[in-house]
Amino acid sequence: MSVTMQAVVKSQPQPGADILQVAVPSVGPTEVLVRVQAASICGTDLHIYRWDRWSARRVHPPLVFGHEFCGVVEQVGAEVTTVQPGAFVSAEMHVACGRCYQCRTGQSHICQNVRIIGIDTDGCFAEFVRIPETNIWKIDPAIPVDYAAILDPLGNAVHAVLAGEVAGMSVAVVGCGPIGLLAIAVAKACGAGPILAIEPHPYRQKLAERVGAAAVLDPSKTDVVAEVLVLTDQVGADVVLEMSGNSQGVRQAFQMLRRGGRLSLLGIPSKPVELDLANDVIFKGAVVQGINGRRVFETWYRMQALLKSGSLDLSPLITDRLPLTDFKRGVELLLSGNASKVLLYPNGSPA
Ligand SMILES: [Zn+2]
Ligand SMILES: [Zn+2]
Repeated sequence: MSVTMQAVVKSQPQPGADILQVAVPSVGPTEVLVRVQAASICGTDLHIYRWDRWSARRVHPPLVFGHEFCGVVEQVGAEVTTVQPGAFVSAEMHVACGRCYQCRTGQSHICQNVRIIGIDTDGCFAEFVRIPETNIWKIDPAIPVDYAAILDPLGNAVHAVLAGEVAGMSVAVVGCGPIGLLAIAVAKACGAGPILAIEPHPYRQKLAERVGAAAVLDPSKTDVVAEVLVLTDQVGADVVLEMSGNSQGVRQAFQMLRRGGRLSLLGIPSKPVELDLANDVIFKGAVVQGINGRRVFETWYRMQALLKSGSLDLSPLITDRLPLTDFKRGVELLLSGNASKVLLYPNGSPA
């Protein structure tokens, strides 16, 4: 095995990224080295690429980008027992501390001291990535490589959709970025209906239809709250999934929710959002919940079962496949809005 590898690196505290040769990570006794087959560019990577205020505070270059991937185990540390070289794996990239109140009470997905691989430590836009054994997720070989590369965002969607009942219920998804679109596919597979998508971008509107939305409403053209009421016999949506982080989208999400309904929020607003708590939460008896990451590993088990059932067709959402060296082109495609999941192949594309 060579000692260096190709990687996408944020080498300076400024916009952009470099394709560089860096050292292959060495594994400690409880760590696993994975040869990356496919990785996927996330919205978070676009923030780091553009070097916005959030990433300038959070990220310390040099850093290898990337946190969505699958691959084959190359090497394991001396104390690793649960996974062997050759295994097809992905990983939970939120590394919890294991010692705080949340970790000790079964809520490690909201660990106080979480460190994220690909944000706080070197990630997977490289030929190899190093993962703690405890974070490895073994993938059923029946699951295609391209789906296995997007388990991280699919897990966000599964966590949000299944944070309450959805079968036989109307679900409104506000914002059809990749996680919103994945949430539509998951809600459909879980028997929700009708599924109503709210999205202004025409490319994403088409994808929302393809993955199972019964109606796609454009907030730049229509009163989406009134439309949702019409489509739900003036009751409002049983479940609303807020995936936009847009302040108007968040307010409308509360307004289109039926009395006693469930609103799960995943989209991250860039600044505080003003809400009418009296009318939209208290008098409504609304159940409001924040969705962060994936429940470890409950969400992963449910996601794997859904994938194995064959009821999730995610193929329309994987819009582009590029070599690792074309990372910047992938970023440009995503920034244009005319792409959803862009996959990179650091070890060459599969035949
Ligand atoms: Zn991501
Ligand atoms: Zn913790």
